[in-house]
Amino acid sequence: MKELRHVKQFLILYKKQYTIGILALLLVDALQLITPKLIGMITDEIVAGSIDKGGVLRYGLYIMGIAIFIAVFRYVWRMNIIGSSRIMEYWIRNKIFSHLEAMSTDFFNYKKTGDLMAHATNDVQAVRQAFGQGVIMLTDSIFITITTIIVMSTTISPSLTLMALIPLPILAALVTFMGQKIQSRYKLVQESFSDMSDRAQESLSGIRVIKSFVQEDKELDRFSVSSQGYVTNNLKLVRIFGFMFPMIGFIASLSFLIAILYGGNLVINSVITLGELVAFITYLGMLTWPMMAIGWVINMIQRGLASLKRINEILDAESEIKDIEDNISGGVKGSDIVIKNLSFKYPKANEYALKDINIKLVTGKTLAVVGKTGSGKSTLAALLLRFYNITSGEILIGGENIEKISLRSLRDSVGYVPQEAFLFSTTIAENIAFSDPSLSMDKIETAAKTASVHEDIMEFPKQYKTITGEKGVTLSGGQKQRVAIARALIKDPDILILDDCLSAVDTKTEEAILEHLEQVMQNKTGIIISHRISAIKNADEIIYMEDGAVAERGTHDELVNLDGKYNDLYKKQLLEQQISEEV
Ligand code: ADP
Ligand code: MG
Repeated sequence: MKELRHVKQFLILYKKQYTIGILALLLVDALQLITPKLIGMITDEIVAGSIDKGGVLRYGLYIMGIAIFIAVFRYVWRMNIIGSSRIMEYWIRNKIFSHLEAMSTDFFNYKKTGDLMAHATNDVQAVRQAFGQGVIMLTDSIFITITTIIVMSTTISPSLTLMALIPLPILAALVTFMGQKIQSRYKLVQESFSDMSDRAQESLSGIRVIKSFVQEDKELDRFSVSSQGYVTNNLKLVRIFGFMFPMIGFIASLSFLIAILYGGNLVINSVITLGELVAFITYLGMLTWPMMAIGWVINMIQRGLASLKRINEILDAESEIKDIEDNISGGVKGSDIVIKNLSFKYPKANEYALKDINIKLVTGKTLAVVGKTGSGKSTLAALLLRFYNITSGEILIGGENIEKISLRSLRDSVGYVPQEAFLFSTTIAENIAFSDPSLSMDKIETAAKTASVHEDIMEFPKQYKTITGEKGVTLSGGQKQRVAIARALIKDPDILILDDCLSAVDTKTEEAILEHLEQVMQNKTGIIISHRISAIKNADEIIYMEDGAVAERGTHDELVNLDGKYNDLYKKQLLEQQISEEV
């Protein structure tokens, strides 16, 4: 079965548990076959008057003893099979997570987080059920059905067995059919539940917008609609269960009716004894469950396999960004950057985002990249970190093509501050020390000071222990950006890439940060992306990007003298600054 390829390793690892579990299960089933016999024997002996109170007690003790064994073995199979299926769930989930972590950033541009979450929860759960309850019910129902029917027909009466079993296949068919209906309705219930929780989550996250536009009533109406959908779907599910269980009871009782009518006649005609009829009816009671179970288990295994297929699809997806075989690991040698004839197109785009870029950047120097939104600045940064493979041309760091450098070495050597500052829901100190949790408080503070955010942090009641992110204090945009800068600086990287990460910081703070950076950057290579010329005036080289290509390049003075697009932007920004200062 090729569907099992990703879980095979687990099944081999847990072979012993499954074997013990299934043996215990079979043992329980076999022991269960004895009790009805004993009950039949007591009945016959009581009818014949050949037993005293002590004899009845002895039978009682046998039944007790069997019950104790059954209890013990039930514990054994549950621990082994259900226990293993729980560990399997954990194992698959971790496998999916680590696989997702290895996927390229592009993968996440096209996969919705919600869908991935659904695979990690619903699909993993369905697989767990198939390998837990599914295995048990399948083994149980096949074994009990076969053995019970054999015992009934060989030791009691074949004709009675045949007659009484007539309604039972109908029961199995009913449960299979209803099971599919239940499944599809259950899916609707789940969908409406996720719809409802999405609705609630979005409304609560956007609560400020809702309040400021006084849209509370409309939101409540929209929520009520989803909430109503959830109830309606649940009621449909209740209805089908409400129909199914009485039907099961009814069909099963038909079997008993036949057993009593036909079996009663056999007793009257002395073909079988009363005790045998009692035993027979007890066996019949034992058969109802596996008949139902077969219906369930077919659905459960189908569902588990479908889920496993979807999980396999994720696990089979390969990242196009990966280490080549003999990659250079253990650190990048040197931090000078050479970009030769670089062109790049996003995997699913038609237009080139970068066209024929050439850059030479020596260690200790800083390159500035300016240009309008969409001109390709962030793309250039993403390529230096190898978030994407380049389309043509090459990027060399320390003289080596970055495709030959291991991803770990490459990314370890770069301190990257993305355009969107993202902080995790933990303390500020932990956010800054993200690259290495063992970093000392001293180092954390130094980094925060360089990023000019230390004073802001000290004003929070819990200072460095302040929790940020969704459940914590809301930092201002500028504060977040500066924490993100500190997080990159603390790595003491050879290459520092700042992607427009001073946009929400006021000009005075910006100046202070740039001044600090100048010290830190002396023997590092820096790339500062900015839309504000004030931030990059002192860079060793400035490139002005337009539509993915370098339109102008030079130092600030050279570009001003050139009196081109850069100078236009500069004059415009100077004017804006003057106006804001006069106001
Ligand atoms: P900048 O940082 O200068 O504002 P970007 O590098 O973000 O510009 O974007 C350059 C161009 O690439 C834009 O036209 C943008 O729409 C496009 N782009 C950015 N990210 C993607 C992506 N993941 N897939 C396809 N196109 C993208
Ligand atoms: Mg950008």
